[in-house]
Amino acid sequence: MVVEPRVKDYICTTAHPVGCAENVKNQIKYVKAQPKVEGPKKVLVIGASTGYGLASRIAVAFGYDADTLGVMFEKESNGRRTATAGFYNTRAFEEEAKKAGLYAKSINGDAFSLEIKQQVIDTIKADLGTVDMVIYSLAAPRRVTPDGHKYSSVLKTVGEEYSNKTLVLKDNTVTMAHIPAATEEEIENTIKVMGGEDWIDWMQALSDAGVLAEHVTTVAYSYIGPKITFPIYAEGSIGMAKKDLYRSSDIINEKFANVTSYIAINKALVTQSSAAIPVVPLYITLLYKQMKAKGVHEGCIEQMARLFLDKMAGEAETDENGFIRMDDWEMADDIQEAVAKNWDAVTSENVKELADIDGYWDEFYNMFGFKIDGVDYSADVDIM
Ligand code: NAD
Repeated sequence: MVVEPRVKDYICTTAHPVGCAENVKNQIKYVKAQPKVEGPKKVLVIGASTGYGLASRIAVAFGYDADTLGVMFEKESNGRRTATAGFYNTRAFEEEAKKAGLYAKSINGDAFSLEIKQQVIDTIKADLGTVDMVIYSLAAPRRVTPDGHKYSSVLKTVGEEYSNKTLVLKDNTVTMAHIPAATEEEIENTIKVMGGEDWIDWMQALSDAGVLAEHVTTVAYSYIGPKITFPIYAEGSIGMAKKDLYRSSDIINEKFANVTSYIAINKALVTQSSAAIPVVPLYITLLYKQMKAKGVHEGCIEQMARLFLDKMAGEAETDENGFIRMDDWEMADDIQEAVAKNWDAVTSENVKELADIDGYWDEFYNMFGFKIDGVDYSADVDIM
């Protein structure tokens, strides 16, 4: 089948198997070009198939020579529809890791469920004995808790409705987004999905099963960003969930004597999750323009290689709140001043000049295996 991108709103409903594999190989090549460092050798990555989790898995496998067990929630192909990008990414990663002599297995299912936690524990027992690092990189729209309750997260503000500029992804125009305030219940539900309860549950289950090594590091990801995005992110419903994630990190540190828990504050990047947030894609395009002009732009793999091979190699480098700041280059004064100035000035007419629209779309297509150099998109490919 010849696979073409089919973009609907902020998602592409097709994925290219060869392009996804190339994308993974390119990320591996980047990590291999960095100096290797000593680090954990058996790593569990929860949310391992796309975005930051995939890049984390690649960084630890090829930067630490670590064996990895990945958990993800992806769809296989049914022969007519392509699989999701994360499915092809994971298969390509496993192939490349095995070629390099590294263990790599993946479990495709709902990480929030008891069944998948048990499957992971059984696999660690059978294959690895213990793990010495747990990376928690889930981004999910909903969660079913073990008692059968279903919770959905929302991307809304807290307190008052908020209006600001946004990029309409279907035609690259700039309009106003009106973001309603979340109800108390919606905030609680968002915390249930994107907060830290399930991270603690994972650490508890792994600890109870005796599959945590003598010294374990765990890390989960968050975003803070500038004032422009505060109402929708840091102070919005997702921000409330992230505050719960920070508290959960403290709980993990107190509860498990053998575990050191961290929060890494990552850079704003195009991923399947961030594309869905209003206001944020426009900020990302303005940010990319400035960071690329100053030569400090990073994608997921550059961020995660810097996290694991630099900031977390040896004693982790943290700020006064204990956070590992991967957004240090994004938040630099000169970058933020330029972005804020352009934020005020940007309109549908000048957006292509002020913002890196083409860069945004390239990264968007790349996530689904499209527009990758060296891939023949006119060729028939096996989508299974
Ligand atoms: P993503 O959508 O690319 O990745 C999400 C991963 O979670 C995928 O591997 C997916 O398969 C997996 N997943 C989702 N639901 C699952 C389930 N029920 N069971 C098992 N696996 C499941 O998202 P991302 O942007 O890489 O986000 C990862 C983390 O990084 C999130 O905590 C996010 O808040 C944080 N973060 C993202 C950004 C950004 O700009 N993208 C910035 C800072 C922090």
